[in-house]
Amino acid sequence: MPGYFDHNATTPLSDAARQAWSEAQARHWQNPSSLYASAGAVRRLLEEAREAFAERLDCEPERIVFNSGATEGANLVMAHTARTGQRVAISAVEHPCVRDAAWKWFGAGQVLELPVDIEGRLDLENAMTMIQAEPPALVAVMAANNETGVIQPWQEMARFCHEQQIPFLCDAVQWIGKQPLEAIDRCSWVSISAHKFGGPKGIGILVIPEEQRWPLALQAGGPQESGHRGGTENYPAIAAMLAALEEALDHSPWSGDARDQFENRLRKIIPGIRIPGRNTPRLPNTSMAVMPHGKNLKWLIRLSELGFAVSTGSACSAGKSNPSHVMAAMQIDSEAMGRVLRFSSGAATTLEEWYSLAAALGEVQTALQHGSRSRNQLDFNQA
Ligand code: PLP
Repeated sequence: MPGYFDHNATTPLSDAARQAWSEAQARHWQNPSSLYASAGAVRRLLEEAREAFAERLDCEPERIVFNSGATEGANLVMAHTARTGQRVAISAVEHPCVRDAAWKWFGAGQVLELPVDIEGRLDLENAMTMIQAEPPALVAVMAANNETGVIQPWQEMARFCHEQQIPFLCDAVQWIGKQPLEAIDRCSWVSISAHKFGGPKGIGILVIPEEQRWPLALQAGGPQESGHRGGTENYPAIAAMLAALEEALDHSPWSGDARDQFENRLRKIIPGIRIPGRNTPRLPNTSMAVMPHGKNLKWLIRLSELGFAVSTGSACSAGKSNPSHVMAAMQIDSEAMGRVLRFSSGAATTLEEWYSLAAALGEVQTALQHGSRSRNQLDFNQA
């Protein structure tokens, strides 16, 4: 879909994933736990898929647990750790699925927040000092931030936690499919969602610690996934997730050139625009901008009318946007937060598409400055 710049929210199903899913639905739809031959074939395929993921992620197949995605994964890790642990440390920019799960399972008072710098990158030295001062039962640092694209020092933190013998959770949702997989196996826990790299929604992986012997079993139910996650396995979705991952990894490495050229152009077209995180390593597909004027919802609606799908960067539902803890951690004030837009491209997005987006932003800027009316009433009433 040209004009789609919200790949960090979700990606369209890749052709390879669609084909793998259709084939599995047509031929391998049986319950892998049933005892007849056709179900046994599905069980074998499921285990082969587990081995293929393990090989890609460079870990033992026993560490791969299929689930519905990163939200479920984070909740499982937090609930499991809170059974015996007292405190958890998380970076100040974690996705709500980690942040809110930490609060829910440990209690807000037991969640130590590790600060980030002005660019939104974890302050590693400070974080290590805080952790050493009072070692928590778990440390969670995401691989790359969904709002800013800023790459976190998760490998360094994984190594440090390993030395300190503290379990480490890495939310690798935005990393997988865009960056190399090395070092993933150094984390105790890793959470992954297929729909961020061309797979279906509602399917993902939790990589569990090597030494995890007892079933995690957060939800009561059947003995699937070695007792770690009850519920009939969704083999067609797993097959599609594998096809999507292989396609994403075989794709030539992403370069951030097109995004950078877009930002350079944008800074000329829209003087006064700010791009937080620009001076630190970021995912090659993400650009978060603080517009110089006008509420972000106004921009978003007008861009949508011009055929562009972008995000406001902060949680936004039913026309209301909540202040973003990520931007607050980067010391962006609440007024400026209301002017933030996030653009995130996909593997097939071209430089021309980035330039078209820049031109559309220029058009919206002119329209907003002249106060011309949007076709959408929402613009007047809510933005
Ligand atoms: N972690 C990050 C960094 C994300 O961007 C998302 C989705 O937006 C999630 C976790 C949650 O993934 P899901 O909604 O698939 O559970």
